Amino acid sequence: MNLHFIDVILPIPLEKRFTYSITQAESEFLQIGMRVSIPFGKTKIYTGIVANIHQTAPLIYEAKEIHQILDEAPIVTQQQLKLWQWIAKYYMCTEGEVMRAALPNAFLLESETIISPNKNSVINDEELKDDEFLIYEALQHQSSLKIQDISSILDKKNVLPVVKRLVEKEAIILNEEIYDKYKPKYVRYVKLSNQYTSEAALNALLDDLNKNATKQKEVILNLFSISAKTKKPVKVSDLIEVSKTTSSTIKTLIDKNILEDYHIQTDRIQYEGEDNEDTKQLNQYQTEALQQINTNFESQNVVLLHGVTSSGKTEVYVKLIESIVAQGKQVLYLLPEIALTTQLVSRLQDYFGEQVAVFHSKYSAHERVEVYNNVLENSNKAKVILGARSSIFLPFNNLGLIIVDEEHEQSFKQFDPAPRYNARDVAVVLASLFNAKTVLGSATPSLESYYNATESKYGLAEIKRRYNNVQMPDIELVDIKDKHKRKRMKGHFSDRLIEEMTEALEEGLQIILFQNRRGYSPIVECTTCGHSPQCPNCDVSLTYHQYRKQLRCHYCGYGIAMQQKCMACGTPDLDTKGFGTEQIEAEVKQLFPEVKVGRMDLDTTRGKFGYEKIITAFQQQELDVLVGTQMLTKGLDFRNVKLVGIMNADNMLNFPDFRAHERSFQLMLQVSGRAGRTSQRGKVLIQTYNPYHKILQQVSTNDYLAMYKEQLDDRYNYKYPPFYRLIKITIKHRDYNKVNLAADWLTKALVQLFKNNVLGPEFPPVSRIRNQYHKNILIKIPQGQHLGKTKEAIKRVEASFNAIGDFKSVRLIMNVDNY
Ligand code: ADP
Ligand code: ZN
Repeated sequence: MNLHFIDVILPIPLEKRFTYSITQAESEFLQIGMRVSIPFGKTKIYTGIVANIHQTAPLIYEAKEIHQILDEAPIVTQQQLKLWQWIAKYYMCTEGEVMRAALPNAFLLESETIISPNKNSVINDEELKDDEFLIYEALQHQSSLKIQDISSILDKKNVLPVVKRLVEKEAIILNEEIYDKYKPKYVRYVKLSNQYTSEAALNALLDDLNKNATKQKEVILNLFSISAKTKKPVKVSDLIEVSKTTSSTIKTLIDKNILEDYHIQTDRIQYEGEDNEDTKQLNQYQTEALQQINTNFESQNVVLLHGVTSSGKTEVYVKLIESIVAQGKQVLYLLPEIALTTQLVSRLQDYFGEQVAVFHSKYSAHERVEVYNNVLENSNKAKVILGARSSIFLPFNNLGLIIVDEEHEQSFKQFDPAPRYNARDVAVVLASLFNAKTVLGSATPSLESYYNATESKYGLAEIKRRYNNVQMPDIELVDIKDKHKRKRMKGHFSDRLIEEMTEALEEGLQIILFQNRRGYSPIVECTTCGHSPQCPNCDVSLTYHQYRKQLRCHYCGYGIAMQQKCMACGTPDLDTKGFGTEQIEAEVKQLFPEVKVGRMDLDTTRGKFGYEKIITAFQQQELDVLVGTQMLTKGLDFRNVKLVGIMNADNMLNFPDFRAHERSFQLMLQVSGRAGRTSQRGKVLIQTYNPYHKILQQVSTNDYLAMYKEQLDDRYNYKYPPFYRLIKITIKHRDYNKVNLAADWLTKALVQLFKNNVLGPEFPPVSRIRNQYHKNILIKIPQGQHLGKTKEAIKRVEASFNAIGDFKSVRLIMNVDNY
């Protein structure tokens, strides 16, 4: 009788791990954290992770055998497994969902996987084994194959190992991943052709060249001297440089069969800079902050660094990183949006050279695998890992420090799909698994983090001055209600804004204009009948994009051509209401025809290098004015910006969310922080209909503490975080009535447990998205009520709900700490 079993995590939403049986030999070889290919259900095949090896047969079902072991060594660490478990429990999802989010796609072969040829790589047939070649061959004739197809080509069931090898050889790609224009980087090398390896042949050649091609002879001699010096293959570029020649000379030599060229693929995430720079000397305030952090670390695991914009927080992190890296440990540097941080990447590379690795959601599967493996092996190429939220899933093995920069940012929270985690909060747990420390940094901390600091749950360090004592920008509120009345507006620009823009441009300085909405205008409306075009799939009006003459839905991507006539009454009197970045850009061009304007929003930054291009253009002063959405706020360090204009503060403030005021404050201070970061004091103009709004007053005086105290009072009075925790349950279905029935049933069950701490059910402002109706229930959890038990109770309600036949197809989405 076979007495060896493994518990496996499958990358699908199952409540439990599944047990499979293995042989004695397999049990001796297998380790926790390795991948196995396993049958599931009648026909499916998955890649699973071994979470446990034991000798207890499952009680309720007979354990199936595994197909095959896929790894020689674990690819998932014990700490990762612990973290997955914590995330699944805390965020009320399954380990399988966490696994799917945590592992690079290329690790997750399964029966549904679609395999296509990798057009970006050059494969040498001879490097493929027979079975690999058969599949490779088939893919030259067919654009994609499924696992079953491969089974029939090879005439066997167990094909994941072959597929895995082909992935590793970069011959195939999975799930039709779009390769984002990424091309592997090949470096071109040259060597002397084989026919001249003998001394006699070589001498004859040199004599020959001496007669009529001395330049070419020189190139050959240089080739020898470079290769003698470096004892390495010689790059074409080096040969050209040393010989002071051109590529056409090299080409002639290749054409004459004297030289041969060949290509070697370089490590694509290689650092190509010069030797490392010394880190900067901290000023007095930075030094004090660093000391505060280190002192706090003696008794605390988490420290909040509250430093005004441009106070030099990054340089403080750099000192911390330096000391951790010197101990041979790894540092995780979390950023809200990696694409926006090219500036930071090169800053860190200057200090830490090739030890810096970047984990990028826009990287290709292979690039992500490369970083994953480097982290797993604690390679010297991955000591400082920079990444957005998903980098908390990397297989750290000797983590010493986590930095969460711009910790207040919403983009640390994942909304869809599960796990709906907040990377800032998970970071604290991840660090604790390694006894590592965490620094949360921001100029405008979240109320939660600042509260934790005042409650001494976190340590606090502060920098109150900008680096070099540059003054904080001068913030002026412009009452546009009054300006409209007195006819002092041109389009969406007040006379004050135009004056300040003119002045900045005359001084050769740059301008940022912030409008928190993309497109031209959110709503197109018929002035005759009032109809405005709606999305057929969602309950929202379509947004007008002038550039493409399109009406588009920002929820589902639906788009139609802009209409000439009202679709309801047929009159051609269409008007636009509200305004977005595109319209502001157009108005700037009208007001200042000679000025170069750029725009940075979701529409202009798609693609891997979208952001880089715009940021670089602005940095190099190829643009005078940059118009953008909140993408502009995230930690960019521009040196030449004098003026920031916030086109309209009111739509942020009036957003129906209990965090709207906190968010508006953060957003406005962060954009303002882009102004005047060097010597000259920056200027910020905020246009608003309501200049007496308390948040605007607090922004204009840069008074974080006043904002914090007032908001905290509100949160206390209305029972919101940080005093209460929130779990939002969303009910989703195509059928409006079913959503209502399901929501009522659930609310009733929950009210029995949590009384008046249950809010709703309520339709959100956009209640139908992609033809699905949504309704929300909010559960508030007071301090002192056990969090784990509360979640278990909710899970039990969910289980009874799922048992009701009528509600079978209704989806429930749990969102813990719904930010
Ligand atoms: P923050 O992240 O707090 O907004 P940064 O770290 O980007 O601020 O610093 C603002 C600017 O000041 C950067 O250009 C940075 O290079 C410079 N700076 C900060 N600290 C120092 C220092 N100690 N020595 C020299 N320059 C510094
Ligand atoms: Zn839509």
